[in-house]
Amino acid sequence: MKKLLSLLLSVLLLCSLCACGGTAEPVETEPFVWYHTGPVEVSQRTLEDAAEADYVQPKNVILMIADGMGVNDIENARNFAEDKFSYGLAMDFLPARGTCTTHSDSSDVTDSAAAATALATGVKTTNSFVGMDPDGQPVKNVCEVAREQGKKIGVVTNDDMTGATPSGFLVHHNSRDDTVALWDQMVAAGPDVLIGNGEYAMREIGLSESSLAALDNYLVAPNFSKFTTVLDKDPEKPFYGYLASNVYESDNFLAYSTEIALNRLENEKGFFLMVEGCGTDKSGHKNNLEGKLSSVVTFDRAVAVAMDYCLKHPDTVLIITADHECGGVSLPADRATKDTITFSTTDHTGQDVVLLALGYGTQQFHGQVSDNTDIAKFMMELLQQ
Ligand SMILES: [Zn+2]
Repeated sequence: MKKLLSLLLSVLLLCSLCACGGTAEPVETEPFVWYHTGPVEVSQRTLEDAAEADYVQPKNVILMIADGMGVNDIENARNFAEDKFSYGLAMDFLPARGTCTTHSDSSDVTDSAAAATALATGVKTTNSFVGMDPDGQPVKNVCEVAREQGKKIGVVTNDDMTGATPSGFLVHHNSRDDTVALWDQMVAAGPDVLIGNGEYAMREIGLSESSLAALDNYLVAPNFSKFTTVLDKDPEKPFYGYLASNVYESDNFLAYSTEIALNRLENEKGFFLMVEGCGTDKSGHKNNLEGKLSSVVTFDRAVAVAMDYCLKHPDTVLIITADHECGGVSLPADRATKDTITFSTTDHTGQDVVLLALGYGTQQFHGQVSDNTDIAKFMMELLQQ
C-alpha cells in the first residue's frame, strides 16, 4: 500500500513538472523570431520536425563552417552561453552526428586556407594555398561542380570577403594573403550571392578592369540595413552585400544573411551555399572565452535558419563542421562555473571537429570519424546526381 501511494505521488509530481495535464506533450518554448525578408520563426518544434522529416534526393546543398570551433566550444556554449535559445543549441537537433579530422598536407595543424580547400575540393594541400593542390595545380571546387550542373552558388561569411575560407570555395591561388588576386578570381567566379565583410575601396586596390566590369552586373548593397531594399530591385541579378568591419560581432548578421542567401538562391535547378561564421576563430586567437561563447551562438542562429529551410525544402542537405579548432579550449572543472576554462594556445590545434548533418544520405556520417575531404566528395556526388 505504501509502495502504491509513493508511486501515485511520483506520477503526480511528474505530471506537475511537465505542466501537461497528464499528457506527454512537450512544453512549447519561445521561438526564435525576427522580421527580415518576411516573418521568420524557428521554434523547438521546427528543429524537432526538421530532424525527423523525410528527406529526398537533394538538389540543394548547404555547408556551414564555424571557423575555429572545437568540440569543447560547443559543450561550453551549451553550459555557459547566455544568449542561446531557450531550447539550447540548434546544432544539437541535427540527427547525423560524427567528427572529422582536419590535418593539411603540410601540417598536422591546418590553417583555414588548406582546410577550406579540403572542404571545397576534396584535396589536402599546403597551408596558405586556396583551391590548389600541393604542386600548385588548380583543383575543381564544389562551386564549379554545382555551376556545371546549372545550379546557383552562394558564399556568405561574417569575415572579410577575401578571407581564407570563402576564398577556398571560389579561388585557385598559392597565397591566401594576395587580396587583389583573390578578389579578381572571386568576382570572375561570379557567385550568385556574395555576402561578407568587404569594406574595401575596390576601385582603388587595383582590381582588373574585367573584375570591375563584372561587379557592375551585381546588385551591390554597401550597408546591411539596405540589403532588402536593394534585393527587391531585381530578383535575377547576382547580389553582393558587404559591411564595415567587425560584423562577426553583430548578433544576428549571419542568420539574416543566411536567410537572404537561401531566398535568393532558390531556383528549379538547385544551389550550393557555403556559410562561414568566423568569430569562433577570432576569439580563439585572442583567448577570449566570452567571444567564443557568443560566436557559437551567432553561428547556431544561422544553423537554425538553415534547418528551417531544410524542413520546408526536403530536397536539401545541410552539413555543419569547423575547419579546425582554435585556442585549445578546455572544459570547466565542473558545470557550476566557467572560471576554470583555460586556453592552451593562441593558435589553431589539430583537434578533430564536429561533422553534423541533416538530409538524404547524411546518416553515413553518424557515429563515424570522417576526414574533411570526405565532406567535399560527398557534396560533389550529390550535386552531380
Ligand atoms: Zn585562425
